[in-house]
Amino acid sequence: METPLKDLWHHLHHDEVLETLDTHEQHGLTEQQARERLATHGPNTLTAARQTSWLKRLLLQFHNPLIYILLIASAVTLALGEYIDSAVIFGVVLINAVIGFVQESKAEDAINALKGMLSSSAAVVRDGSRITIAAADLVPGDIVLLASGDKVPADLRLLSCRDLQIDESALTGESVPVDKQPGQLARDTVLADRGNMGFAGTLVTYGTGRGVVIGTGDRTETGKIAGMINDAVTLETPLTRKINAFSRILLWVILVLAGITFGVGLLYGQDWVDTFIAAVALAVAAIPEGLPAVVTITLAIGVRRMALRNAIIRKLPAVETLGSTTVICSDKTGTLTENQMTVQRIIAADTEFELTGSGYNPEGRILRDGSPVEAPAAHHQALYHCLLAGLLSNDSELVERDGRWSVHGDPTEGALIASALKAGFDRHDMRGRLHRVDVIPFESDRQYMATLHRHDEGHRVYMKGSAERVIAHCNRAMNAEGERVPIHREQLQAQAEALAAQGLRVLAFAMGETDANRLDVPDPDKDEDRLIFLGLQAMIDPPREEVIHSVALCRKAGIRVKMITGDHVLTARAIAERIGIIRDEDKDQRRALTGRQLAELPPDELSKAADQVSVFARVAPEQKLRLVEALQARGHVVAMTGDGVNDAPALKRADIGIAMGINGTEVSRDASDMVLADDNFSSIEAAVEEGRNVFDNLIKFITWVLPTNLGQGLVIMVAILLGLTLPVLPVQALWLNMTTAVFLGLMLAFEPREPGIMARAPRRPDAPILSGEIIGRIFSVSALLLVGAFGLFQWSLAQGASLEEARTLAVSLFVVVQSFFLLNCRSLSRSVFRTHPFSNPWIWWGIGAMWMVQLLFVYTPWMNLLFQSAPLSLQHWGLILGYGVFVLLLVELEKGLWRRWKREGNPVSAGS
Ligand code: ADP
Ligand code: MG
Repeated sequence: METPLKDLWHHLHHDEVLETLDTHEQHGLTEQQARERLATHGPNTLTAARQTSWLKRLLLQFHNPLIYILLIASAVTLALGEYIDSAVIFGVVLINAVIGFVQESKAEDAINALKGMLSSSAAVVRDGSRITIAAADLVPGDIVLLASGDKVPADLRLLSCRDLQIDESALTGESVPVDKQPGQLARDTVLADRGNMGFAGTLVTYGTGRGVVIGTGDRTETGKIAGMINDAVTLETPLTRKINAFSRILLWVILVLAGITFGVGLLYGQDWVDTFIAAVALAVAAIPEGLPAVVTITLAIGVRRMALRNAIIRKLPAVETLGSTTVICSDKTGTLTENQMTVQRIIAADTEFELTGSGYNPEGRILRDGSPVEAPAAHHQALYHCLLAGLLSNDSELVERDGRWSVHGDPTEGALIASALKAGFDRHDMRGRLHRVDVIPFESDRQYMATLHRHDEGHRVYMKGSAERVIAHCNRAMNAEGERVPIHREQLQAQAEALAAQGLRVLAFAMGETDANRLDVPDPDKDEDRLIFLGLQAMIDPPREEVIHSVALCRKAGIRVKMITGDHVLTARAIAERIGIIRDEDKDQRRALTGRQLAELPPDELSKAADQVSVFARVAPEQKLRLVEALQARGHVVAMTGDGVNDAPALKRADIGIAMGINGTEVSRDASDMVLADDNFSSIEAAVEEGRNVFDNLIKFITWVLPTNLGQGLVIMVAILLGLTLPVLPVQALWLNMTTAVFLGLMLAFEPREPGIMARAPRRPDAPILSGEIIGRIFSVSALLLVGAFGLFQWSLAQGASLEEARTLAVSLFVVVQSFFLLNCRSLSRSVFRTHPFSNPWIWWGIGAMWMVQLLFVYTPWMNLLFQSAPLSLQHWGLILGYGVFVLLLVELEKGLWRRWKREGNPVSAGS
């Protein structure tokens, strides 16, 4: 069906396109046809972009200066006839590469798996009705409906458009959205000018459209340039970059030191082979090989934990930034509140009605002064039209399943359907009598939606939207008898405000008769006031229960929560008070500002206001960007939520742009760093907790790993400088570094959150990774290792032990002391004796496994052969264990002193 027409879709006539694809513009394909085509054409997905092959990734593991040194060492020892050493070094290099490869692949898989959680959907017409399907199930011939905020799900020939604009920068690089028009184009029109086509992966920024799928999956224009959309995850973040830079510097420092050692050894007149081996031992011992891999794994574990708590990371650096967040700007509707709207009050022609019932269940009554109104619609014309406007100026549906009612579409609209049904309207009947011929869809910046309906005598407009907007469009009002009477704008405004002040979301309704058969978006500067005001409907949207707790946690954690909403300022403020964003104690703070007030502020006042005010209402999406910038200018690290197309710039600009998984647009998700699977504010707070934990665990690992290297390095250096026998051989240093990092250090990545994690201030992004306290600890433990290993080595030699035994003793001391120090590192500040011993069982599994392999190292003949180790006596073990406990207690003492120092109000102490 495509070969002869390939590349000519833009040139064909509309009917020819439909005919070729054997489809129908209004009815779409049948499910049967779609199934068959899916079987022949395959799913609408791109074959994974050329990823680096596993072989290349494995080889990359060897691309590391340390590995080069080891390979040279292996070659040199081979040349010297030290076959076992040479083989061991080579073997370790291999094992190391495989472990690194496996760990990295796992981390990558964990992050790639998240992409599957964010699959996109498409609105299509099949069997004559509009349904939502997974974008992957689209087939050629499907009729797709596009709306602003959507991602074009496949290549389309457009059949009809309304003000359709598409951002094709992903394909053409052109950043200005393109206007789209159906129609035929010349045969040689270039891709970028094919205004009657929509291309997969591009973003609808405005308007609506209908198109027929002409290509899916790899046969789309985007699919053809698959190299371009290689969105393989990078495992790089600012922190990993810093750590890699640190490792590189460290590497060179150590190499220089090793070189100097070699020179000094030769100067002392030692044998050059021995000196060379000593220099290699130093290099091997002192370089923290495991560091980069563990950092990546810790980040990946953090990402997985966040996903379990409904925060899906799209860009890895967000994991770190979350821990430094100082301000969270959140939408109100749906994020802080349930998005479960129920109309409770209606005011029409100065009469107030109450509604019973809950949720979207259309069972309930309309009460007036507490008694039910029989056939409400028939008795009160203003009420009648107010409800009808809500029913017809509406794109959503209520559906019942197992007695539970839910809304497909906008919850605000769902509530309006329910209220109309409570009054006895039959939606189907009404739609038949008042056939919709045109619509101006709701957009946040317009704050209203209008529809045009044909009836027996002409056309009628229904409008619904914010009270301010709708009132501005009216020049008369309707009374109970249906007569047009003069409008009292202030009075209506006051009614709306009284409802909003109770935390209700207020919508106003208007109607008008016209002869035009098309609606035009009026010029916002000269609001035409020719409609008839009908009434107000006010709905509750209860705050999410768990959000109250999360907001309190954020406050304790030094993170400000700000509400940014398109809703009325009084509604916003009432909700903000209920969930604790505004509290009575904050009297000195200016509490709420509207978008209009914000627009009038001079720049310096704006940044002050952005900092101090907690609620921003009737904010246009463009103003979100200004708010983010103002907050960043004050040094804040800003997380900002957004769901609409126009939120994209603010999401991109924010340090963490957060999109909604349920109610958000594809455009906003594309611009975000993180997506909330449940649209819930509490998930942001959860992600912050996890972000802080990731950082904690990284520091814990670094604190633990550096003494292993520094301690060994010092032992070897001291031995060389004093001209003594090496207490640790190169192969033994390799053994130590490899096994302890994998069995011991890595387990810190699984540490759960510490209790006080949300009781301290956010980490400053420019703060050094390691504090003075931690650096001090690293050096003291290194010194303790030096003293212990060196002392024990010399002592046992003096006692007549063999060199093999003495070295085994030194190596085992490292293993045991690092096992105990691992316990210290479970918390950087809290006492290990107050940490639940089994809250991280991995620690114990790791220690158990480490000691098992160490026993093999000490007692099996083949290990003795490979590593020149020798069996130890019980007395030896007693000494080593005693020293391990001693180090554990000493470090705890040191931690305790720091705690006391901080308690006594030292300014360095973090948090309050
Ligand atoms: P938010 O999402 O922050 O609550 P919105 O931008 O969705 O704010 O809504 C702003 C205002 O627009 C609401 O207070 C309401 O008056 C009006 N509004 C909201 N949804 C609709 C809709 N579907 N149709 C018409 N007007 C709406
Ligand atoms: Mg909204």
